[in-house]
Amino acid sequence: DFKMVNDSLGHGAGDELLVAVAARLSALHGPEDTVARFGGDEFAILVADHGPADLDQVAERVMVSFRQPFVLGTDEVTVHASIGLALGQAETDDAGDLIRNADVAMYVAKRNGKDRCEVFEASMYEAARRRLEVAGELHGAIGRGELVLHYQPVVELHNGRIVGAEALVRWQHPERGFLPPSEFIPIAETRAVIITLGRWVLNAACRQVAAWRREGIVDPEFYVTVNLSARHVQDPGVVDDVVSALRDADLPASAIVIEVTESTLIHDLERTRITLAELKRVGVRLAVDDFGTGYSSLSYLGSFPVDLVKIDKSFVDHVAKTPSGAALVRAVVELAHGLGLKAVAEGVEERDQAVALEGLGCTLAQGYLFARPLPAEGLAAAVAADHAVNAPVGAAHR
Ligand code: C2E
Ligand code: CA
Ligand code: CA
Repeated sequence: DFKMVNDSLGHGAGDELLVAVAARLSALHGPEDTVARFGGDEFAILVADHGPADLDQVAERVMVSFRQPFVLGTDEVTVHASIGLALGQAETDDAGDLIRNADVAMYVAKRNGKDRCEVFEASMYEAARRRLEVAGELHGAIGRGELVLHYQPVVELHNGRIVGAEALVRWQHPERGFLPPSEFIPIAETRAVIITLGRWVLNAACRQVAAWRREGIVDPEFYVTVNLSARHVQDPGVVDDVVSALRDADLPASAIVIEVTESTLIHDLERTRITLAELKRVGVRLAVDDFGTGYSSLSYLGSFPVDLVKIDKSFVDHVAKTPSGAALVRAVVELAHGLGLKAVAEGVEERDQAVALEGLGCTLAQGYLFARPLPAEGLAAAVAADHAVNAPVGAAHR
């Protein structure tokens, strides 16, 4: 929480906090131990001559000491510690390795939700190394053409007609096979490579829709949605990236919808607002992804120039199960419609979910019930089959 204190109370308060933390940590340890500040908000404690049993107590003592608020001038703040523990032997272990292991464990503690302690295990190092490897390889992979887009149809609930598709990236890794985005997007998102990836996805998706339109496979109303990560949306070049992808593919902006998650919207409000307004001016539509999971204030939704709200799967999962599940989805659909936006239900797997959604006024959906994400040829075939059906046949009733 150090950055938060620095940002909200100023660097003077941040310095005071570091001094206060140092004093508290020093008071917990005897003369045979070493307490040091490592840099930034990281501290290292070398605990001498203890067995594994005592280690838990060391961590516990530190966490308990943080329960008391810190007094900084007239302010009181409560901050949390993420602790990584590593066990070593003075005779055999290198100090550098010991620190690295503790560092790896600390990152796991942070990732698992802060205010906790993790003990280093060799498998953690393996996982951290793999993450680094993936991030390093991704750049080259984009250049070598190892990424592909799959497309999940977006359908009209009342007749099952395909009106658009969501572009979802996959990595055809030469050694590790077909990687789902969960294996590399979260890693990429912490690094600049996510912008290179986002540009690639924009270009590939625009070229694909342009080709489908030329070949007469899709009609001019058909659109493809592209996911952009928060970091890319905050990048000053993002509008240019969208504009040049459209221009290079000779595609009208109306064929593209940009999806941003709800948490992206709350990140850097002013910058995001300007970027989204510029994208709107270009003519692309905007969707709020994973709606309902970002804890944003409802008023944000009305103040951004969005066109679509994607109702997260976690809500869809309960829509046909419980009255409160249905009530939540009804509220989101009505909120969306009240603001003049369309609602798209995500992750629809069962027929009774589709029926319930339609009953609640939701008009659009995607999910395994209708189709999994498909390779480009698969999407083209699905659209063709759709066109071949003369009388509308409700997918929910098929
Ligand atoms: P998302 O944007 O929420 O995408 C929806 C995910 O739900 C997709 O997973 C899709 O395959 C999956 N899904 C769709 N229907 C169903 C269903 O009925 N049941 C279940 N269980 N799952 C369903 P996928 O393709 O693994 O993508 C995961 C996430 O990775 C996406 O979540 C998105 O956040 C991210 N992602 C994918 N492609 C890109 C991309 O090009 N750029 C960025 N920045 N992120 C991407
Ligand atoms: Ca999405
Ligand atoms: Ca989503």
